[in-house]
Amino acid sequence: MPTRRRGLILRVVTRNRCTDRLRGALPFSLLALALGGCASTAGPVAGQAGGTSEEVTSAPVMDPAIEATADAPIPDAADSVAPPGLNLDSLVALIRSEATRQRPRSILPFGIAWTPVQPIEGSAIVFRVMQPRGGLEPEAVAGHFADGVVRFGRARRTWLGFAAVPIGTSGSLRLELDFRFGDGSVYQQQVDIEVAPRVWEQTSLSVAPRFSSPPPEVQDRIARDRKQFRAVLDSASPEWLLDGPFALPRPFDVTAEFGQERVFNGEMQSRHTGLDLRGPVGAPVHAAGRGRIVLTGDFYFAGNGGFLDHGLGVYTGYFHLSEILVSDGEMVETGDLIGRVGATGRVTGPHLHWSLWVDGTGQDAGSLLEIEVALP
Ligand SMILES: [Zn+2]
Repeated sequence: MPTRRRGLILRVVTRNRCTDRLRGALPFSLLALALGGCASTAGPVAGQAGGTSEEVTSAPVMDPAIEATADAPIPDAADSVAPPGLNLDSLVALIRSEATRQRPRSILPFGIAWTPVQPIEGSAIVFRVMQPRGGLEPEAVAGHFADGVVRFGRARRTWLGFAAVPIGTSGSLRLELDFRFGDGSVYQQQVDIEVAPRVWEQTSLSVAPRFSSPPPEVQDRIARDRKQFRAVLDSASPEWLLDGPFALPRPFDVTAEFGQERVFNGEMQSRHTGLDLRGPVGAPVHAAGRGRIVLTGDFYFAGNGGFLDHGLGVYTGYFHLSEILVSDGEMVETGDLIGRVGATGRVTGPHLHWSLWVDGTGQDAGSLLEIEVALP
């Protein structure tokens, strides 16, 4: 029997409550008891420092919200139906004892918290998944959110993962978590999060005609730039290089918001992929977080600049620089001087174009100020 239960998958939908549906929900309810018990202790989990007014629960339930997936073996009726003369309580005790023999410790629901407390379209979310006390320890945690991947890195008893909220995506979005255990079993937990929509401003800009209508001879260069950017941003280093909270690369004096719809010389051409911070030519630009410098160079639209890889698919970018003071492959610490403000590429004047990418999706770098990153 232990081998048949190996690989069992439970799907737990949050926000449900431990109800008294036990009698009508056999056999899955008993499985829930055997593996996790009625999680009456699973209550709201506030974000660490920022707190969250949202109810962030992770309660396994006793109703059809717990389902065994089709690809996993589930116990047949012989496992779960009470033998004649056995009442419900003794049946529960029987199942519990069986579970105890198979698993020295139970899988308990995980705490899930996030910042910012009120997520908004176009801004990254950081999820923190917390190991319950006494619960079986997973070997790996994988996440999905808003059609994207959430890569989790471990920091003691918690896992930290960034999720992207693409432009055009809002409303109730679901985080799906898969916990994989040493014996091959997988436990799933979900939470729905309300993401507010954002109104994007439009702006008209006048730039040199070679930037609004690039001449044919530079098309190859533009295509090459894009391909190189894509190759970096769609990749992910396997672990966090980040070691703590983000810091501003320049004082927070915004000259152009992220996501602005940009009309160049009367023609709607693009959306602003960064957050522009004011600065004269030569002003210092600092690393927003610990990471490795990747893909520095001179790009047609972005001018001089490069990316900083923070691990697990999270990158910040620094562009239109007059000087790049670091080299590809170099590790930098939060606050290190990495370049100087300039006016290279497609610009109307000197500034720092600061960008953030999560799982290959451009996000508002300003959101880094509203998230909590706690890594050892
Ligand atoms: Zn910009």
